[in-house]
Amino acid sequence: MSLYSHSQLSTYEQCPLRYKLRYRDRIKREVTGIEAFLGIIVHETLRRCYNDALRGTVSTPMDLFSYYDELWERKWHDEIVITRNDISLEDYRAQGKAMLIAYHQRYAPFNSEVTIGTEMKLMFSLKENDNYMMVGFIDRLSRTKDGIHQIHDYKTSSHLPLQEEIDQDRQLGLYSIGIKQKWPNIEKINLIWHYLAFDRELISHRSDEDIRRLIDNTIRLIDEINDATDFPPRESALCAWCEYPDLCPLRKHLYEVDPLPRSTEQPEAGA
Ligand code: SF4
Repeated sequence: MSLYSHSQLSTYEQCPLRYKLRYRDRIKREVTGIEAFLGIIVHETLRRCYNDALRGTVSTPMDLFSYYDELWERKWHDEIVITRNDISLEDYRAQGKAMLIAYHQRYAPFNSEVTIGTEMKLMFSLKENDNYMMVGFIDRLSRTKDGIHQIHDYKTSSHLPLQEEIDQDRQLGLYSIGIKQKWPNIEKINLIWHYLAFDRELISHRSDEDIRRLIDNTIRLIDEINDATDFPPRESALCAWCEYPDLCPLRKHLYEVDPLPRSTEQPEAGA
């Protein structure tokens, strides 16, 4: 049985060697990019905000800031890497707060729809025989007053994708498969990305034909990974955030003096 996440599949597509080192060889690293760290803190803050709303407490902007600051201090560690020299640590920290205040202004008191869950773990199968199992975490699942279910995903990226890119996005399309397997009576699902740095919502839908194509393409990719015997490095702009430069034939000459620590696992950037 295969068990994959969207993040694993994306890592393989970006660089097969990085995929092998992380998921097959399970070489663990502390190293986290500041962008991924910021994403984790913002996600956890919004999760708390909606969980509080479920209990009847509406977070104020100061509540969000206070929780954000507390998380930032508590989770900060020395292996967080800032690769850009034009943005300071305090700039990054302020960016997260700006995203939260814009989100609060737009959505408070967070009751325009019913929150069904936050950080919901989904396990689902792409085929009836369970040979292609997927796992994922939905940032938030909600239901509108009209009974439409909505899968929400928070993005702290500084890149705003085009609608065409969103319409091809694999991650939330897969999650919609998982939701329909869990609750077969659900008919319509909106896929919603919150690009927090732009205060923008992008919405997409998947037809039955889109879903069939998504399943076929994902199964093909999983077969390719399962059958792979060669995992070549694939250099790209993403190498700047790679945790294995010292093990990479294309980059190790840059890191021979000061190899990176190997203690614990790199958090998923998925988010
Ligand atoms: S440095 Fe780049 S090419 Fe090398 S393993 Fe990492 S992502 Fe792949």
